[in-house]
Amino acid sequence: MKKPNLGILIKPASSDCNMACAYCYYRPVGDLYPDVRRPRMSPGIVDVVCRQYLALGPREIKIGWQGGEPTLMGLDFFRQVVQIEGKHARPGDCFGTSLQTNGVVLDDEWCTFLAANKFLVGLSVDGPRQLNGVRRFPNGEPAFDVAMRALEVLKKHRVEFNVLVVISQANVRHPDGVFEFLLENDLHFSQFIPCTEPDGTAGAVSEHSITAGQYADFMTALFDAWVENDDPTYYIRRIDNWLHQFFDLPPECCEYREDCSNLVTVEWNGDVYPCDFFVEERYRLGNVREQTLEQMLSGPTFRAFAREAEHLPALCKDCRWLRYCRGGCYRHRRKLGIAEDGVPYLCEAKVRIFDHVFSTLREIKQKPVRPRLHAFLDRIGRDVAAGRFEMRPPAAPQAQDRPAAAPRSRPQRNDPCPCGSGKKFKHCCGRVVGTSRRR
Ligand code: SF4
Ligand code: SF4
Repeated sequence: MKKPNLGILIKPASSDCNMACAYCYYRPVGDLYPDVRRPRMSPGIVDVVCRQYLALGPREIKIGWQGGEPTLMGLDFFRQVVQIEGKHARPGDCFGTSLQTNGVVLDDEWCTFLAANKFLVGLSVDGPRQLNGVRRFPNGEPAFDVAMRALEVLKKHRVEFNVLVVISQANVRHPDGVFEFLLENDLHFSQFIPCTEPDGTAGAVSEHSITAGQYADFMTALFDAWVENDDPTYYIRRIDNWLHQFFDLPPECCEYREDCSNLVTVEWNGDVYPCDFFVEERYRLGNVREQTLEQMLSGPTFRAFAREAEHLPALCKDCRWLRYCRGGCYRHRRKLGIAEDGVPYLCEAKVRIFDHVFSTLREIKQKPVRPRLHAFLDRIGRDVAAGRFEMRPPAAPQAQDRPAAAPRSRPQRNDPCPCGSGKKFKHCCGRVVGTSRRR
């Protein structure tokens, strides 16, 4: 069995972290391994995972290092990771390696390594100091200054990075303040993740989580601020996905693709789960020391998960936004205890957001009310019409076509796209910037 679109998330330190943010959804994962105080992945497990993953023939190798806090593994571990990847890579392979971090340990040595090995870093920060208050150390100290120092060192070493903003009760009333923060700090690549964590009661969410109405208010205001700014060099992952959809190009977020079967999560000890929102005993697919990824992906647990996750609630079938929303992310139903055909938690928000975003994009495309965005949409429209803006996954190279070159890491934005289109990576397969998350 080949899985050409599969990506993997690896949690080398499981949910262990050097911070203690109140909204963190990873902490319950610690309950899965109650006897292990410091879970750490061995290089031997990395080796097995890498070998099994490449055997599935991914067109673009997508490996996300995630936590908890993956940098707790130390820099030497990641040096070994790069060696292991190089050992298994076939000539011409293109590694897309990302690392999600809170930035606590990032210094000159780390960033020199990350830049040299073309890691794409996702740094967590939720906005300016006054909106970043949920992000704290175990002793209660705020983490804002640490995140800002990490931003500086990432920039200094020209590491590719984006910022990951969690929308929680701490910042949800201040979309303009968050957008200003991006502008003031020259943060051109960002992604926003709604905090929607269960509180244990069916359909209810934790105190830090946001409501559907708040999510719609935040995202429409953020979109308006982006439009008002009239500068398409600011990429916001969700807006980028909407742009894809506006031009009938396939979006990149799994949430909009009705596709929960192209991702697996590997825990520190080799245990494998589907998407990282479902790291629970009942979803455990197996362990790489006992079974191959291929066996697990064709097994009954994974097939049942994918079938349930990709099931559309009955009310979605007549929805005018079905084509774009696809019922939303499965976690907004299953994790919140919403019945199979119940109303997805963010449904109301999706309707408001899509109504607003798509009517605004139509207006901008028709009239040069925002000249730079108008020109940007115009160019994409022309490229799409001329077949120059091709977002289909690149064809898998045939063995005899592969150049005898050294294995390559993720291309930089201005490199030629590895799919062979002749375009720059940033205008082709690398058009959408993401790190670990597809949310
Ligand atoms: S994040 Fe949501 S849409 Fe994506 S794989 Fe997980 S459950 Fe599916
Ligand atoms: S907007 Fe609501 S009804 Fe429509 S597809 Fe999305 S979740 Fe389903």
